[in-house]
Amino acid sequence: MNAMNASRYPVISMQEAWEQVAVAIRPLPVVTRPLDTLLGHVLAEDLVAHENMPPFPASAMDGYAVVAADRAEERVVIGEQDAGIRQPFHVQPGTAVRIMTGAPLPDGADAVVPFEQAMEREGRVRVPASVKPGAFVRPAGQDIATGDLVLAKGTLLGAPEIGLLATVGRTEALVYPQPTVAVMATGDELVPPGQTPGPGQIRDSNSYALAAAVQTLGYTARRIGPVTDTEQALRQAIQEAVAGADMVLTSGGVSMGTRDLIKPILEELGTVHFGRVAIKPGKPLTFATVQGVPVFGLPGFPVSSLVCFENFVRPALRRMAGYRQIRRPEQLVRMSHAVRHTPDRTEFQRAIVIQRDGEYWAEITGNQVSGRLLSLVGANALLTIPAGVGDVAAGESVNAIFINQPEAS
Ligand code: AMP
Ligand code: MG
Repeated sequence: MNAMNASRYPVISMQEAWEQVAVAIRPLPVVTRPLDTLLGHVLAEDLVAHENMPPFPASAMDGYAVVAADRAEERVVIGEQDAGIRQPFHVQPGTAVRIMTGAPLPDGADAVVPFEQAMEREGRVRVPASVKPGAFVRPAGQDIATGDLVLAKGTLLGAPEIGLLATVGRTEALVYPQPTVAVMATGDELVPPGQTPGPGQIRDSNSYALAAAVQTLGYTARRIGPVTDTEQALRQAIQEAVAGADMVLTSGGVSMGTRDLIKPILEELGTVHFGRVAIKPGKPLTFATVQGVPVFGLPGFPVSSLVCFENFVRPALRRMAGYRQIRRPEQLVRMSHAVRHTPDRTEFQRAIVIQRDGEYWAEITGNQVSGRLLSLVGANALLTIPAGVGDVAAGESVNAIFINQPEAS
C-alpha cells in the first residue's frame, strides 16, 4: 500500500462530489418509537385524525351555559357542569347551567356567558340582553376534525407536533432514526486537549469540534482517537467505527503525505467514491462506503474539516434523518472590500454578513488559512467564490450560504 496512490484521484467539482454523496446516502430505515422519545425526529407517516378535537361542543370559558335566543332577564341556575363528566342537564329558556372551561355544553344550551359578564344571586343569574349563538363555545372538531391530515410525513417533530400526537391518542409514531456518528481523529502528532503537547505535537481539536457539529443537529457523536498513523491501528479503528455507527467521520490522513493512509485503507475496506474535490478549503475530501456505511475522510486542518462538515456532512446527515430540506438559505451579498481568489477551486470564505440600507454586505473574518479556527468564530456565512473566477472587487456580488440559519430547501 502506498499513500502516493492518492494522486490517482481526479479532482472533481463540488457538484459532482455532492451528486455521488446523494446517490450513496439514503434515509435510515424507519422505526417506531415511543412518544416521549420523538423530539427532533422526522415523521415517517402521515398522521390522520380519527376523532374530533374537541370531541364534544365545549365551553371556552368559566360561565353560564344558556339558550342564546332566550330573552329572560334572569335565569334559574339549575346546576353546575364541571369538566371531565357529563351531567344530564337540559337548558331551556329561563334556565342556565354554571359551566367550567372545557366542560361539555349541556343539551339545549348554545352559548356561554362568561362569569365576568354575569351576576348570580340566590340561584338566579342575570346575563347581558343579547347573547350570540355559539358565543364562547368550542364546536366539536374546531381544533381537529375527523379525517384531517394533522401532520404530514416529513414533518420535524417539535413541541406542538408531539402535543398533537398525544392529542390524537398516539403513544408512538413511525419516524426516521437520528443517525449516530463516529468521529475519529487521526495523526501521530495529536494529544488529547488535557495533555501538554511534547515536541512536534499538537492537541486534537477536530474530534471535539466535529462531535459538537454533529450534536448541533441533535444527533449522537462517538469520539474516537487520536488514532496513530499506522495501517493496523487505522484499519482496526475504522472497522470498529463502521460496525457501531450510521456514519463515520475521520479527520486527517487524506493529504499526499507518506503517513496519509486513510484513502488506501478505505479502498481496501470498501469503495472510495471520490478522493479529491475542487474546493478550498477541503481539496483532499474523501468519501467512501464501507459495508454500506458512509465514511467521510475529512481533511486534518480544523477549518477544512468543519467547512466540509457544513457543505457535505450536515446535508448528508439530514438526508439520513429523513429531512427533505437539507440546504441552508443562500443569497447574493455585496463585498465590503476586495477579496483575493485563485480560480482553480470553489472557495468558501468565512464571513460576517450584515444588512445595511436594504442590502446585504459581507466582510471576511480575517486571515482565511485552513488552520485558523478563529475564522469561523462569529462567522454567519460562507461566501462561495466559484472556480473559474478570479479576485473579487469591493462592491461586487458573491453568493453567501447562511450557516446560522435553518435549512430551507
Ligand atoms: P494531515 O492531513 O493529517 O496531514 O493534517 C493536516 C493538518 O491538520 C496538520 O497540520 C495536522 O496536524 C492538522 N490536524 C490533523 N488532525 C487534527 C486534529 N484532530 N486536530 C487539530 N489539527 C489536526
Ligand atoms: Mg495526519
